[in-house]
Amino acid sequence: MTTTTDWAALYRDLHLHPELSFGEVRTSGIVAEHLAGFGFEVTTGIGRTGVVGLLRNGDGPVVLLRADMDALPVGERTGLPYASTERGVDPDGKDVAVMHACGHDVHVTCLLAACERLAAESGTWSGTLLAVFQPAEEVGAGARAMLDDGLYERFPKPAVVLGQHVSPIPGGVIGLHSGPAYAATDSLRITLHGRGGHGSMPETTVDPVVMAAATVLRLQSVVAREVAPADFAVVTVGRLDAGSKANVIPDDAEILLNVRTYDAGVRTRVLAAIERIVRGEAAAAGAPAEPEFEPFETLPPVVNDPDAVERTRAALVASCAMVIDPGAVAGSEDVGLLAAEAGAPCVYWMLGGADPARFAGLTTADEVIAAVKTLPSNHSPLFAPVIEPTLTVGTTALVNAARAWLGPNQPD
Ligand code: ZN
Ligand code: ZN
Repeated sequence: MTTTTDWAALYRDLHLHPELSFGEVRTSGIVAEHLAGFGFEVTTGIGRTGVVGLLRNGDGPVVLLRADMDALPVGERTGLPYASTERGVDPDGKDVAVMHACGHDVHVTCLLAACERLAAESGTWSGTLLAVFQPAEEVGAGARAMLDDGLYERFPKPAVVLGQHVSPIPGGVIGLHSGPAYAATDSLRITLHGRGGHGSMPETTVDPVVMAAATVLRLQSVVAREVAPADFAVVTVGRLDAGSKANVIPDDAEILLNVRTYDAGVRTRVLAAIERIVRGEAAAAGAPAEPEFEPFETLPPVVNDPDAVERTRAALVASCAMVIDPGAVAGSEDVGLLAAEAGAPCVYWMLGGADPARFAGLTTADEVIAAVKTLPSNHSPLFAPVIEPTLTVGTTALVNAARAWLGPNQPD
């Protein structure tokens, strides 16, 4: 097996040139060029800036390997020689600093390197590789955009979706959690309709400010009183907006809220409770019109299929120093959508990216977890994965995990 690319150099180049969600033009160009060089059929512009590399290698399962490509509006303060000084324009038209603060440059580099190695070793496996380089994970829209652009009509549906996310656990360690690993997220824009008027004549109005205030308080009872103590749910009202002046009762009020859950039944119950409470408070206030609900940024949980995890576990153990169970996290990820839409299991693991030297001398899991909590997390302006062993382990993990699903080489 020979591989020729200097992956550390490519990583530093991607890190120097981060691009915001759906702006991954330079990155997707680099991805497409490399994939073509490895002999993949390359399709660009799927879901705006997404890239798909297809490598057909005889009969066998279709394995989807996924990397996200976008960066964040964060000003880098790592002090690294390859720190980003790029700027970009955010969706509101504002000039912002841009940084690979979530490590998606690690994901892109590892997946390209894995594609190079699997192509070089194509005599030793059979099946089809579907390498998906996804835009706009950070705004929860890239996977949806690729699916809406016909990902599974234009390319074969996978038997499994595999991917990884770099995190500040020690380099050389992989985190693998069976079952729900990342939470579902549901954001709602709720408009409450009242009837405005003069602040001195409330009897002529239906006050949406009072309606909204009562609603926000009552919504706190959803998790406290309607979700079992052993189940997980978060309901956060992140924005409450009404009126403009002390003596004017406005017509409407707006609530923006976010819900996090792991379990589909809990999610359904929480969303139904929210709608019931909002409608109930509007009715109690005598609202002249029904409230309106507009869902946005809705993602299913990332559920690591237990059977698929067991099928993949040995491949990951063979790729790194140690596999740990980091538990479920309350963050969300749109990789679950790629699996759900394909009706395929998902295995999504955490790739250690923190300098192993920071963990020297620690012997217990508790000590390691305590040390992880002192390190800059994803989205921090100080987030700085070490290049090695991160790239080597991340590449090997993708190659080995794919091979756990691909067929053996066909006899001639
Ligand atoms: Zn992120
Ligand atoms: Zn991320």
